Amino acid sequence: MTKQLLDKKVAVVTGAASGNGRAIADAYAKEGADIVVADIQETPREGGEPTHQLVADNYGVDAKFVECDVTDTDSLVEAVDAADEFGGIDIIVNNAGIFRQKDFIEVTEDEYEQMMDINVKGVFFGAQAAAKKMLDNGDRGTIINMSSVAGIIGQATFSVYHTTKGAVRLLTYSLADELGPEGIRVNAIHPGVIETKMTKDDVPVATQESAENTSMERLGQPEDVAGAALYLASDDLAGYVNGESLIVDGGRSNT
Ligand code: NAP
Repeated sequence: MTKQLLDKKVAVVTGAASGNGRAIADAYAKEGADIVVADIQETPREGGEPTHQLVADNYGVDAKFVECDVTDTDSLVEAVDAADEFGGIDIIVNNAGIFRQKDFIEVTEDEYEQMMDINVKGVFFGAQAAAKKMLDNGDRGTIINMSSVAGIIGQATFSVYHTTKGAVRLLTYSLADELGPEGIRVNAIHPGVIETKMTKDDVPVATQESAENTSMERLGQPEDVAGAALYLASDDLAGYVNGESLIVDGGRSNT
């Protein structure tokens, strides 16, 4: 039998109850990884079986749900520690995030802080909790941070979101430089418009117009993001890839 890409690996995926994180957990489990789903809620926004049960049932891997609010650093440490039950963390995907739209002039301090806390602080301290553990266990590992095309370009009415995703991009480059010598690869994913509850309900940008703005003339699916996350997590495929910004947007940005 061909070796699975993530055989014997253990992955913590934040925000994996729903959307992109759920698809990433599924792709990782399919390739043999044990999974810790770290989310504020267990129930998928899109409905269906909770992610940890789904991947355990479908692929026979070990999987568990840990209630985790990424704005709380202790909660992130607990999520990373939960991987010890499966042998210790090898991969973290700092994926949890929120998306809001508002005119720059109208943004309140509370709204700014909420998005910065989830989208930036959550990624920063998720990466830190994982890196401490990876350095301690000597096995090293890989960190994947969820940015966005919003981390590369600016856009009116999305000033806070783009600020957060730009921060994630430069955090990723800095960590790649600092942790690379320790054998820890750190990369970012930059999706375009992906059809999830975030883009269908929170801010409805998953439209036909958005699809037509891509060179592939379709919206992205969570599985498209998961494919990129699988590539970056695999030492066999991406063992020399560090500090990369992997754009997954159907050619929207560069064509
Ligand atoms: P989603 O469907 O809304 O899923 C996000 C998940 O994160 C939800 O389960 C959510 O729980 C959870 N979450 C929210 N706040 C959290 C917190 N404080 N602590 C722990 N978990 C929390 O969104 P998505 O589209 O999959 O987005 C996932 C990531 O991809 C985000 O970082 C987003 O910015 C990024 N991204 C998405 C797109 C896109 O087009 N969808 C494009 C570029 C980048 P609740 O349901 O309780 O809120």
